Amino acid sequence: MDLEKIDTLLTHQYVFNDPLHQLFNAVDAISVQGYDEERRVIYWNQGSELVYGYTEQEAKGKKLEDLIIPDAMREIVISAHGDWLSKGIEIPAAELTLWRKGKQDIPVYSSHVLFTNQFGKKQMYCIDIDLTNVKLAQAQAMLKQHMLETIFAAIPDMFFLVETDGTIIDYHVNPENNHQIVPKSLIGQTITDILPDVITHKFQTNIAKALLQGEMISFEYSLPKQDDLTHFEARINTLQKYNQIMVIIRDITEQHKSAELIRHQAFYDSLTLLPNRFLSLDRLSQLLLEAERNNEKAAVVFLDIDDFKKINDSLGHEIGDKLLVHASKRLQQFLQNQDTVGRLGGDEFIILLKGIGGHHNATLIAEDLLQAFRQPFNIDNRELVLTVSIGVAMYPNNGCTVSDLLRNADTAMYQAKSLGRNTYSFFTQEMNNVMQRRFEIEEQMHVAIERKEFTLFFQPQICLKSHKIVGAEALLRWHNPVLGNVTPDEFIPIAEQTGLIIPIGEFVLKQALTFLVEWQAKDNCEYTMAVNLSPCQFRDNRLYEFISQTLSKYDLSPKLLELEITEGVLLHGKADIHNTLIEISESGIHLSMDDFGTGYSSLSYLRQYPFDVLKIDRSFINGISSNQADLNLVKATIAMAHSLGLTVVAEGVETKEQLTLLEELNCDAVQGYYFSKPLPKNELLNFSASF
Ligand code: C2E
Ligand code: MG
Ligand code: MG
Repeated sequence: MDLEKIDTLLTHQYVFNDPLHQLFNAVDAISVQGYDEERRVIYWNQGSELVYGYTEQEAKGKKLEDLIIPDAMREIVISAHGDWLSKGIEIPAAELTLWRKGKQDIPVYSSHVLFTNQFGKKQMYCIDIDLTNVKLAQAQAMLKQHMLETIFAAIPDMFFLVETDGTIIDYHVNPENNHQIVPKSLIGQTITDILPDVITHKFQTNIAKALLQGEMISFEYSLPKQDDLTHFEARINTLQKYNQIMVIIRDITEQHKSAELIRHQAFYDSLTLLPNRFLSLDRLSQLLLEAERNNEKAAVVFLDIDDFKKINDSLGHEIGDKLLVHASKRLQQFLQNQDTVGRLGGDEFIILLKGIGGHHNATLIAEDLLQAFRQPFNIDNRELVLTVSIGVAMYPNNGCTVSDLLRNADTAMYQAKSLGRNTYSFFTQEMNNVMQRRFEIEEQMHVAIERKEFTLFFQPQICLKSHKIVGAEALLRWHNPVLGNVTPDEFIPIAEQTGLIIPIGEFVLKQALTFLVEWQAKDNCEYTMAVNLSPCQFRDNRLYEFISQTLSKYDLSPKLLELEITEGVLLHGKADIHNTLIEISESGIHLSMDDFGTGYSSLSYLRQYPFDVLKIDRSFINGISSNQADLNLVKATIAMAHSLGLTVVAEGVETKEQLTLLEELNCDAVQGYYFSKPLPKNELLNFSASF
């Protein structure tokens, strides 16, 4: 049957220009198809073409199952249609996936009706709505939902969707991270039901603020948890359109803890856990404010462990650290609650004492502190004994500001050190003057070498047998335009502390040897040159190298150089000092023990180290003509030195009597004002000794 025939046949049997069909023709958003009893298309509106892709022409006369029914549904559709025609069993409306032209799946919502026309013919009408977009939207919504769920699961935050009055509409709490929340449903409850009043109030104010400002507001709050607090951050976002609010809550307890830790690290010493310098000084300024308000006295105590460097060097830093920890515990035990003990750095501690009732009270505390350290420390099964030096500055007598009190307590502490350690000192104005002077000297000394302010004087040494000059001691002089003449007794210790002694010492050695060359050439004989060395110079490991290079530069025999050292050098007792001394001695340079009789005067040093010369300190020479004890001591010293094969030089010989006595005692050489003061080099060149 050709198409035209079908068409006439169909038009003949069915009417399509009634108002209903006119309506179908007019809507193209819905597909309306009409089928005859053999399921051949008799009606196909514009909407059908849009949904299924076939034009009316293409569709007309084709069978339903050949057009839009997928293979799998074919039999079902045919039999359902048959059942409807014969038994009146309706095909219900349903969501179906049918085929578009080219066998592409298309989701539709399909409703069906069955008419009987005036010719008694049954005709089925299908009204299909394309669900492609709906399905797409649904799929997207599903995807979003899944995304949200994954996000919720991944983020420890809690999400609440609430009404503006605080009623919870929806929420998401990740059970793994929020053990706090009771598992029963919170929907319908309000914030007031689940949080304490203070926090509810905080929420309400911030919700109001967020609504008013139309932007996100965040704030923090804390809830008690066992003995601790849990900290939260709440962020409030308004969903303006829906008049709803999104509340996102995050547990920030860990952040709080690490912030707390950082704060702690910034203000506490990590080794001893004591307040560090920052916090200690902050406490001091608070203490001063309080003391001023209450008209009270206060004390700032500096405490420095004696010779801590030695402990560190000899026993290692690990033991040193442990010792610091133990020492700070002892300090804490000793102090009262309201007092602060802090670590200023290294082995230096500060103690702040409140409400001190006058000098006496602070004295007692200082004494107790010394006492507290008398007990040995037990570290790694080793008994270690520490002593400390303590300096005290009082508020308001010794200063009213943090910096004044710190400086003065430090000055007092230095004083305690120079008094021989293991003691305490209270600050006095006198100390301040000394400190002031010290600072000035230090300041000026830094440029003194450059400005050529140092000169060397030479004090002749006379042999008591030959009555001839045998050599000289080089003694440093400093004239400064600001300070005038500064004596070596004053500036040498400062040069030692600042390390300037190294360049100064090199200057002295060079100048002394230059002069020796000139002096020997002039008199055409050999002299010895005695040069003083400071203990610190031995810490410079290039010392020996420098000396021997300088000697060979001037082509001088090493035996003409005599290095004077005091026992202080030997007291340090370190292996490298020992080695340097041996090295020096083996090279032929003479070693001289200076100021013998003062300090520790250990005879064992004389045996232990290769000394060539012993210089008896002038304080003993001073007394030999008037004091029998001094005379005996000098006599014994000379005998002992000779027995060890040392030459003896007496220092500070000022009188004829002293000279005679020393001659009688068999002293080898002398040096002193009786013959000559230290002289500038030109004067020494013209000097001749007369007995
Ligand atoms: P010292 O090495 O014991 O030097 C002897 C000191 O006694 C010198 O003091 C000298 O001027 C002084 N003197 C000498 N004869 C007499 C005397 O008959 N009567 C009195 N009352 N004093 C006398 P000076 O020059 O003031 O030096 C003091 C100390 O400074 C020296 O003691 C020495 O330890 C140190 N010194 C001096 N120059 C240097 C130097 O270049 N390097 C180092 N490291 N120390 C130096
Ligand atoms: Mg000397
Ligand atoms: Mg001396």
